[in-house]
Amino acid sequence: MSNNRFFKKPGTGGVIAPHDRSAWIKGGNQRCVMPPRKPAGRAWRIILLGAPGVGKGTQAEMLCERLGPCHLSTGDVFRAAKGCRGVHRSTAMKRAQEHMKRGNLVPDETVLDIVSERTQCLNCSGGFLLDGFPRTVMQAEALEHLLGSLDLKLTAVIDYELPSEQIISRISGRRTCALCKTVYHITTRPPTVANRCDHCGAELIQREDDQPKSVKVRMEAYQKSTKPLIEFYRQRGLLHTIPAAGLPEEIYQRTRLTALARH
Ligand code: AMP
Repeated sequence: MSNNRFFKKPGTGGVIAPHDRSAWIKGGNQRCVMPPRKPAGRAWRIILLGAPGVGKGTQAEMLCERLGPCHLSTGDVFRAAKGCRGVHRSTAMKRAQEHMKRGNLVPDETVLDIVSERTQCLNCSGGFLLDGFPRTVMQAEALEHLLGSLDLKLTAVIDYELPSEQIISRISGRRTCALCKTVYHITTRPPTVANRCDHCGAELIQREDDQPKSVKVRMEAYQKSTKPLIEFYRQRGLLHTIPAAGLPEEIYQRTRLTALARH
């Protein structure tokens, strides 16, 4: 969920990423300052699946940076609503954050309301990469309906797989920049200066839902609610299973050469 390359937004002291994702993160009438470029060929429309901690966020970042689609993470919308001014915080959103803090899934209706309010992002000519949505069969069915109504077809659904001991190690070492949300790992992707973000210098923190108690609940939710999506997309001929062991670049190349080779 991080943004690797930052630049100064003219006339402000702030930093924004090349794909600033305002329309997705803030919803409502927000427009992106720097929407994704329209690709020369067909736009990529990708879904990433995989257990929490499998490395979806890192791959999402690399795929979006190199192939151009916009990174649409529902988790990022909930996290942003917690801290950002200008983000609508309805009662449903506050309740969603309570579910999230404990590691539980947010109710389908809330998630689907949030995605429906952001249909323009699915319809963006730059394409999209969905990370963390859909997470239940009901969400997948609703997405299928929504994409059908927009006459859009998915390019691929990528399922990252990793043994559970490696997943636990990845989650327990994960640190996130408190400001720009870039993701690090204390051993495999450490920042240059200990505990400080390479991009903006802010402090690195451990996400509340990366604490051991919440991780257990998230894993159970994944097994029960999200794993059935593998079969859902296999039946539609869209599923590609990618081993998620190794360095981020190796996993990226594996993804590119197998799941995304023919487009
Ligand atoms: P993530 O960053 O994708 O791991 O999401 C963090 C948390 O946000 C999850 O543990 C859930 O509590 C909540 N969440 C994000 N996306 C969804 C979704 N599609 N359905 C239900 N809950 C979600």
